[in-house]
This record gives sequence, C-alpha cells and structure tokens, in this order.
Amino acid sequence: MAETEAAKVYITRELPSAALDPLREMATVRVWPGELPPPPDVLLAEAADADALLTLLTDRIDARIMAAAPRLRAISNMAVGYDNIDVQEASRRAILVTNTPGILTKTTADFAFALLLAAARRVVEADRYTREGRWKTWGPQILLGQDIHDATLGVMGLGGVGLEVAKRGRGFGMRVLYYDKTRKPKEERRYRLAYAEPKELLAESDFISLHVPLTAETHHLIGERELSLMKPTAVLVNTARGTIVDQRALWRFLKERRIAAAAIDVSEQEPIAPDDPLLGLDNIIITPHIASASVATRLAMAKMAVDNLLAAMRGEVPPHCVNREAVRRWRQSLPR
Ligand code: NAP
Repeated sequence: MAETEAAKVYITRELPSAALDPLREMATVRVWPGELPPPPDVLLAEAADADALLTLLTDRIDARIMAAAPRLRAISNMAVGYDNIDVQEASRRAILVTNTPGILTKTTADFAFALLLAAARRVVEADRYTREGRWKTWGPQILLGQDIHDATLGVMGLGGVGLEVAKRGRGFGMRVLYYDKTRKPKEERRYRLAYAEPKELLAESDFISLHVPLTAETHHLIGERELSLMKPTAVLVNTARGTIVDQRALWRFLKERRIAAAAIDVSEQEPIAPDDPLLGLDNIIITPHIASASVATRLAMAKMAVDNLLAAMRGEVPPHCVNREAVRRWRQSLPR
C-alpha cells in the first residue's frame, strides 16, 4: 500500500474506538455514519478512492465495485462468512480478502442452542401468551413442547460453530449425529458423535441445526425434499445463512405442521420483508441475524478485522486471509 501518503481506509459502519484507534494512527479513515449500510452509489464512490475497505456482511462487494477501485488492495470483512464478497474477482485483481473466524464461534453456538431450546419449549410463544392475558390457569395441555434431553440432534456442517453446538447437545444429554463434507473421526471419538449421511440425519433427528457456509452447493440445501424426510415433530434451527433453506417450502411445512417448529437467525431476504408469510406463523422464531451479538465478541471481531487491515497495510499477509492464492500477485502489486 502507498507508503508516502497515508493509506485511505473506508469503513462501512461505526465501530468501537477501542478497535479503530490503532488504524487511525496508520491511515486516513473514513467511516459511514449511518445505522443502515451505505447505499451502493456511496460505497462505489468511497471505494474508488480507497486502499482498503472494512466491510460487514450487509455490504455487497462485487466486480463493479472492484473495477471502480484501482487502488484497492485489501477487503477486511467483519464476519466469518464472506459470501457478500466476490472473492474470485478479488483474487483476479490481487486484492486480499480477510474474515474474522474463531472468535465468534462459541457465541454463535450459544445462540443457536438458545434458539433450539426456545423453539423446542415454545418460550417466545409462551411469553406472548402471558402478555396477551391468556394465562388463566395451569393446564395439562397448555403450550406443550418437545423434550431436549435424550432427543437426537443433527448437526449439518461440523466446522467451528457446528462442533460447539454438538458439544452443547452432548451436555444436554442428547444423541448427536452430524454430516460434513469431511468426516471427523477425532471429534467423533472425543465427543461421542455419530456420522450420518444427510438422508439418515434428516430422518432420525428431532432437532436439526445448520452450520454449513453458503456456497453454490449449499444454496437451498434444505428444500421440499429434505423437509419431507424430517419427522413431523422435528425442529429446524438455522443460524448459518438464509438461502441455505428454501423459505417458501419451510413456510408450507410449518403451516401444515409437517414439521413442528423452526427458529431462524438468518433469512433469504435480510431484513425479512414485513409481509413475509413466515411472520404470520406461531411455530417459528425469527431473530435479526444476532447470533454473534455479544458485547465481548463484537469488540473482538472489530479488533480482528482491524488487525487484518493493519497487517495488509504493513505489507504482511493478514492472519485471516481467505484468498491465499492471490498473495503472490498482491505482493508484486505493492509499491516498492
Ligand atoms: P466453518 O468452521 O468453516 O465450518 C463450516 C463446515 O461446513 C466445515 O466443516 C465445512 O467443511 C462444512 N461444509 C462446507 N460445505 C459443506 C457441504 N456442502 N455439506 C456439508 N458440510 C459442508 O464455519 P463456522 O465458523 O462453523 O460457520 C458456519 C457458517 O455459519 C458461516 O459460514 C457463516 O455463514 C455462518 N455464521 C452465522 C453467524 C450469525 O451471526 N448468524 C455467525 C457465525 C457464522 P470443509 O471445512 O471441509 O469445507
């Protein structure tokens, strides 16, 4: 990056100053002040003049933005997922892309498990019931849910978050099945998990929790066919990415009670449209993409995103670079 003049960094949302101060010492930093993401034309104009971007998953960084940004050398995404960035195009242009893996894993798993518990035991519905003044007596048939202990949990994608969810499941006395592209014998032995092919996992699990990344392969991984393999008492939890689930099919299955309940932190369209039919159902919990939203974790993510940028600005390969194939040409592209 430019050594003579200070590098220019554009940040697409306000972040804690504890994270940003070290960056301000090294670069000219501009921050989008809004609560909503910068509009595409603003992002395009700011990127055009930037050496580096610090982005969130709500910012689409595509070929058009990169084509307009001749100085751009690094994009630091403050998220573990980076499907909002055209990484292939970034590599083609020798731009390094980084993410913030690891630090949000346990926080996200805690939340996935919170959703699982809440959906199983109808916690949100019960709160609504109480506030609406419908609590008249103790009733033997009121708000019955599913037991968690002794039930079977199916984890799709046994990476960082998936493994932590599996461990929480074991702690609650669940039998845990998992499916992953790669079988993980060490984890199977250590945490007593059983590998299952998707069909078997879907048919046998009482709770199914999704933890695969969004790729061309996982788009609508859960659709009509997969939902129809699930038990009518099954609960589906999605804290991964919205388009991993075919939301129309999910709506039909929930409405017709062909599965019992769902809890989603992510949606095909984010934010979910106010007239989305899922909002009319009682048997789904919908949260606004907050699985990693703990005070400590969000600060740690911001610091890690900044550390990735600082490394790039020093001419070092950032610790969490996701397109290492671009490193050689990136090095060559730096001013000498
Ligand atoms: P991770 O450590 O990369 O784990 C993903 C796992 O899924 C890996 O084991 C991967 O296998 C496996 N996988 C990839 N494609 C698959 C497929 N087609 N079928 C089965 N398994 C497949 O990622 P993570 O940290 O656990 O996070 C998972 C996803 O959760 C992220 O990509 C992100 O989109 C989402 N997330 C959401 C939030 C939120 O706020 N709601 C927070 C954190 C994460 P390989 O390693 O062999 O590719």
